[in-house]
Amino acid sequence: MSIVHGSAAELAKLLAAGEISSVELTRQYLDRIDRCDGEIGAFIRVDADRALEQAAAADRRRRAGEDLGPLAGLPVAVKDVLCDRDTVTTCASPMLAQFRPPYDATVVAKLKAAGAVLMGRTNMDEFAMGGSTENSAVKTTRNPWDATRTPGGSSGGSAAAVAASMAPAAIGTDTGGSIRQPAALCGVVGLKPTYGRVSRFGLVAFASSLDQVGPIGRTTQDAALVLEAIAGHEPRDATSINRPAPRYGLTVNQPLEGLKLGVVKEHFAAGLDSEVESAVRQAIETYRSLGAEIREISLPHSKYGVAAYYVIAPCEASSNLARYEGVHYGYSTDQTAMFAELNAERKRLTDAGDLQAADDLDPPLVRMYRRTRSEGFGPEVKRRIMLGTYALSAGYYDAYYLKALKVRRLIRRDFDEAFRQVDLIIGPVTAGPAFKLGEMVDDPLAMYLVDLYTVSANLAGIPAISLPCGLTQAGLPIGLQLQAPPLEEERLLRGARMFEAATQWSEKRPANHTNGRE
Ligand code: GLN
Repeated sequence: MSIVHGSAAELAKLLAAGEISSVELTRQYLDRIDRCDGEIGAFIRVDADRALEQAAAADRRRRAGEDLGPLAGLPVAVKDVLCDRDTVTTCASPMLAQFRPPYDATVVAKLKAAGAVLMGRTNMDEFAMGGSTENSAVKTTRNPWDATRTPGGSSGGSAAAVAASMAPAAIGTDTGGSIRQPAALCGVVGLKPTYGRVSRFGLVAFASSLDQVGPIGRTTQDAALVLEAIAGHEPRDATSINRPAPRYGLTVNQPLEGLKLGVVKEHFAAGLDSEVESAVRQAIETYRSLGAEIREISLPHSKYGVAAYYVIAPCEASSNLARYEGVHYGYSTDQTAMFAELNAERKRLTDAGDLQAADDLDPPLVRMYRRTRSEGFGPEVKRRIMLGTYALSAGYYDAYYLKALKVRRLIRRDFDEAFRQVDLIIGPVTAGPAFKLGEMVDDPLAMYLVDLYTVSANLAGIPAISLPCGLTQAGLPIGLQLQAPPLEEERLLRGARMFEAATQWSEKRPANHTNGRE
């Protein structure tokens, strides 16, 4: 089997032992991208030259006997939402198509310092708003298990890149499920850390009280290694938690003794696909056979999670995205065309004798904002800005935003109560496997409901992981979700690893993208 199908943890060992050089490994992944990405579309840009330079630098440091961390020389793909001063950061939006950040996001800086090889930038829903990667203004990414289906979103490019062995690990972001849902639909591992565990400095903001950066890899060990490298305190992000990041990679293989697992009774309601349900129930039995105690718990307010999320996230988005007006950042409308339009309108009104209307025309600045935003944002981003602006407007603020914040507190309280009884919560990530591309693009509400099982962890700020737990009859991956109390990523990873080690699901590869074709 070609080396590109290996896990990040396995490859890190080969690199450390000098059995393969980073340049060789990077070349193999670049070849793989050349062969597969035409079909999959996981990358918005591949930075081949820089990747090879970084690989050569990692090899030099290793030869010089430097004490390097596990990521040194390891290829990693980064979602196109984290600032990188060496390359444009587009958020898959026309608004930022030419945006070249003047600084590195903390996560990018940490990856560079760790000696990782940054392969390129992965596709996403525009500004991370969506669950299928179809809201990207650049292209649609396809699921490596079935190219007629979505890889999920918004970090669909990152999950598809790992699933199709175009990178052994990737970085995603998760505001309402965007790491876990694509990981589940692509049969890989994705971890959303505790809010504040990983710095958001340099992450293009969507909904600031929910956004988190996290790893996507083949295995829980991969997630542990990458998380270890990117987590930690960062004073430039005021919400960053001031606690050192544990060495997750050192403990991930230690099984949890006397594990108490909570099964949420509300999770198995109508709407859950029967194959997903049976895979999750089987996973619960696997844990029981490993000695875990299974307890039924209740999260009574989680059913309001999607409603609360789709008020809070658009409210924050409408505020965050107000900065794109054509002056400070990114795209700006063609001013010559704008003035020509304005003058033509004024002339038409004046010629018609309607001097008042000519006088009332919007001034150039307002026009520039409007044209810039109409042209620079896609339909879903506009929808969110309008929803959020409406919900925050005078007279509606209490009815929507404040109410949603109260629901959020109740959801958090449900988790606090649950974690008094159990160590981890187990359940599905999504109600069904990967859906067909195009199936939901005209039905935003159906698309929002896909987030049913994921948004609660963001609203509560707790860490959660998605890992493969089965395949449907049609051969599509099924994800298992585990959730832990705040800052208990170590417990989360160790608990997830127990299942992974007892089953073979993480070793499965999509049929047409394995060694069959290599
Ligand atoms: N699907 C959710 C949304 O559309 C989550 C997105 C995310 O986590 N970035 O908002």
